[in-house]
Amino acid sequence: MAGDDPFAEVARLLAERRNAVALTGAGISVESGIPAFRGAQGLWEKYAPMEYATIGAFIRSPEKSWRMLTELLSLCGGATPNAAHTGLAELESMGLLRAVITQNVDRLHQAAGTGKVIEYHGNLEELVCITCWRNFPTRERWKGDGSPPRCDCGEILKPNIVMFGEPIPWTAQERAEEEARSCGVLLVIGTSAQVTPACDIPRLAKKAGAAVVEINPEETRLTGTVTDIHISGAASDVVRGLLRSVSSLQKKND
Ligand code: NAD
Ligand code: ZN
Repeated sequence: MAGDDPFAEVARLLAERRNAVALTGAGISVESGIPAFRGAQGLWEKYAPMEYATIGAFIRSPEKSWRMLTELLSLCGGATPNAAHTGLAELESMGLLRAVITQNVDRLHQAAGTGKVIEYHGNLEELVCITCWRNFPTRERWKGDGSPPRCDCGEILKPNIVMFGEPIPWTAQERAEEEARSCGVLLVIGTSAQVTPACDIPRLAKKAGAAVVEINPEETRLTGTVTDIHISGAASDVVRGLLRSVSSLQKKND
């Protein structure tokens, strides 16, 4: 499907269909200084997911899970959007991108100015008590000194993120499925597509007729099966390149 210049091909698809959606994963925030979970320097190298990141692990030992969560919160707290985040916001303002479905919990799409963000795995801005279900803004309860934040009832609070073994928030699931079923192009950026059910979104979009474009320096299990066009590279370089191709296409058509 991709011609000689995949950037020009994707720009053409974005401009013609005018209803793209992006699905983003940890890779899009790597250039903002937040490591992904998998791969070299990934957080899983340090924190085995089954020991730290499942809801069962949190219930058994919230203090232990908070060692990983403290690091994630500190990394995300100091991060700012990179050119991939701002580029997607620009595509949205040009009327070429309809929504971003993100697996990330770092809020960098909102910081970059994207209006429609579907947070598939929640976010770190809120803490919830899994005993009495009270919510608190993270900045009110988290001191950042290594001590886990506590609820008024005395229990340790959990960030409002989806840990392994927890369901996807119902509205996020509904909205993501709806976007996947109705988009003309799905940009899959910086996700290893190994986490279910997020990895089903590209299949759903493809089945409904969307062109699936993958932006990732590596191949994933989607590449060559679900993906129509794979552009290999760092998210910021590729999104910048796409914006250049979109604007030269617009100049040509003027
Ligand atoms: P993952 O860690 O499984 O995979 C990251 C993917 O990004 C890999 O395929 C890698 O090749 C790619 N990548 C690395 N650098 C890149 C770059 N500069 N540009 C583009 N792609 C790049 O990530 P996942 O699939 O999102 O699954 C991990 C889960 O952990 C998700 O739920 C995610 O929300 C969560 N997580 C979130 C953050 C965050 O909020 N920033 C950080 C770590 C993990
Ligand atoms: Zn409580």
